[in-house]
Amino acid sequence: MADPKGFLTTPRQEWPRRPVEERARDWDEVYVPGALLPIISKQADRCMDCGIPFCHDACPLGNLIPEWNDLVSREDWRAAADRLHATNNFPEFTGRLCPAPCEAGCVLAINQPAVTIKNVECAIADRAWEEGFAPPKPPERLSGKTVAVIGSGPTGLAAAQQLTRAGHTVAVYERDDRPGGLMRYGIPAFKMEKHHLERRLEQMRAEGTKFRTSTAVGRDIGADELRTRYDAVVLATGATAWRELPVPGRELTGIHQAMEYLPLANRVREGDLETSPLSAAGKHVVIVGGGDTGADCLGTAVREGAASVTQLDIYALPEAERDEDTEPWPTYPMRIYRLSAAHEEARDLRTAPVAHADARLFAASTLRFDGDAQGRVCSLHLVEVDARRHPVEGTGRTLPADLVLLALGFSGPDREDGLVDQLGLEMEPRGTIRRDSGFATNVPGVFAAGDAARGQSLIVWAIAEGRAVAAAVDRHLTGSARLPAPIGPYDRPMAV
Ligand SMILES: Cc1cc2nc3c(=O)[nH]c(=O)nc-3n(C[C@H](O)[C@H](O)[C@H](O)COP(=O)(O)OP(=O)(O)OC[C@H]3O[C@@H](n4cnc5c(N)ncnc54)[C@H](O)[C@@H]3O)c2cc1C
Ligand code: SF4
Repeated sequence: MADPKGFLTTPRQEWPRRPVEERARDWDEVYVPGALLPIISKQADRCMDCGIPFCHDACPLGNLIPEWNDLVSREDWRAAADRLHATNNFPEFTGRLCPAPCEAGCVLAINQPAVTIKNVECAIADRAWEEGFAPPKPPERLSGKTVAVIGSGPTGLAAAQQLTRAGHTVAVYERDDRPGGLMRYGIPAFKMEKHHLERRLEQMRAEGTKFRTSTAVGRDIGADELRTRYDAVVLATGATAWRELPVPGRELTGIHQAMEYLPLANRVREGDLETSPLSAAGKHVVIVGGGDTGADCLGTAVREGAASVTQLDIYALPEAERDEDTEPWPTYPMRIYRLSAAHEEARDLRTAPVAHADARLFAASTLRFDGDAQGRVCSLHLVEVDARRHPVEGTGRTLPADLVLLALGFSGPDREDGLVDQLGLEMEPRGTIRRDSGFATNVPGVFAAGDAARGQSLIVWAIAEGRAVAAAVDRHLTGSARLPAPIGPYDRPMAV
C-alpha cells in the first residue's frame, strides 16, 4: 500500500450514481461516467493489507484483492489487470453486478466502512479494456479434443473461455438468438450495458470459441448427437424454472412472471421491438417478491413510465445493521436493509405512496387477485404476516393493480427442451442436476455447472463454477490438472 495510514485518513467513497431524475429517463448505467477513476487509487489505498484477508475467502473466485488494491494504489494498472484476470474471466461483469460478499468480509469492515473492493475491480477491468491489457489469448496449440458447452450465461462463457484457452475446440450452444444468458435478457441495461458483454464475446470469438445460437439442445439438436460428436459436454443451462403463486385469480390476464416481462424490455433496448407488449407505461404495477429480480422489474417499470409501482416483500423490514448473533462478520448478511439504485429511484420519485418510502411493502403476503369483466387483473389483496408467515388480523388491504409481476425465484433448469430426459440425467430432489465431486453427472462425459446444478445463485458463483467445471473437463480429457478450480460443487457462501 502506498499510504499505510490510508484507512485512517481517507473515508469510503463509492462510485457516484447519476441524479435520479436524469437516470430514470434513460436506460444507461446508473453511475456517473468517468467519476470512478479519479477517486479509486485513494480508495484502494484504504486496504490495510491486514495479513489475513477474509475478503479473499468471501469471494468465490478467490480474487487476489489485497494484491490488486496495492497495485491500484500505486497506479500500476497493467499488473493489476494481470492479477485480476488471473482469477476472474469477466471482472467488468462482477464489478457492476456482484453484491460483493468480499466487502462484508473485509477486515476494515469490523469497525469501519469496508474498502470499495467492487469499485476497484470495475475500475481495473474498464482500464484494462481502455489500455488494451485484455487482448484475446488464443491457445498456442490445439489438443485435438472437442467440447460442447450448452448455455451461454456466465457459467458457460467462463467454462468455454478456460477450455478454449487450454487448447480444446469449443462450441457453445445457446437456445436464445444472442449469447449471454441472464446477463442478456434478464439483467437490465441500467445495471450493466450490453456492450460489456459484446466486447467479451468478441474476445472469445477471436480466441476460437464458436457460438451456435438459436439452437435448443434437446429440441433442435439431439443431446445424444452432441455426446457422439464431442469428447465432453458441459451443461450450463441455468435455473429458469420459475416459482408460481397459486392464489385465486392467478389465471387473470395482466399477471406475468418477471422473466416474461424483463426479456421484452431488454429486447426493446436491443432494437428487436418498438415497444414491449407488456410495457408498464401508465399502469399500476405490483411486483410480488422482494429480491433482486423484483428490484430489476421495479427499475424497468419506472423507466417505462408506470403510474405507480409497489414491491411486496414477504419478510419484515430488515434492520439497518447486521445481526451480530445470526450473521456476524465476516459472513454476508442476508437480512440487512439495502437500498438498490432502483429502490432509490422509487423512493425519490414516490412511485408507491401507500408503501414504505422505497416502494416496498414488507411482511406482505398476497391473498388473491380480482379482475374486471374482461378477465383482466385490476386489484391485489394482501395481508400482513408475522415471522411465521401467519396473517395478522385486521391488516388486509387492497392495491390497484393492472400489471402484476411475479418474482418469486427459480427452482432449477426447465425441462421443456427435453435435454434432461434425453440424457437420462439424475436430478436432485430440489430440481437441480445431480453431479459428483468432480462436476460429472451420471452420464459419462457429461458435466454440469452453474445455476443448473447449484441452484439459483450469482454471477460470481457462476464464473467460479465455469472455471471449476473447465478444470474438471480438462482433467477428464488430458489426465492432467492444469486449470485452476476455485470452488468445489458443494462449496457454499461463508456462514456461521
Ligand atoms: C432478473 C435477474 C437479475 C439478476 N441480477 C443479478 C445481479 O445483479 N448480480 C448477480 O450476481 N446475479 C444476478 N442474477 C443471477 C445470475 O444472473 C445467475 O446466477 C447467473 O446468470 C447464472 O448463470 P448460468 O450461466 O448458470 O445460467 P444463465 O445465465 O441462466 O444461462 C443459461 C443459458 O442456458 C441457455 N439454455 C438453457 N437450456 C438450453 C438448451 N436446452 N439448449 C441451449 N441453451 C440452453 C439459456 O437460454 C441461457 O442463456 C440475476 C438473475 C435474474 C433472473
Ligand atoms: S467478484 Fe464479487 S466477491 Fe469477488 S472481489 Fe469482485 S465484488 Fe468481491
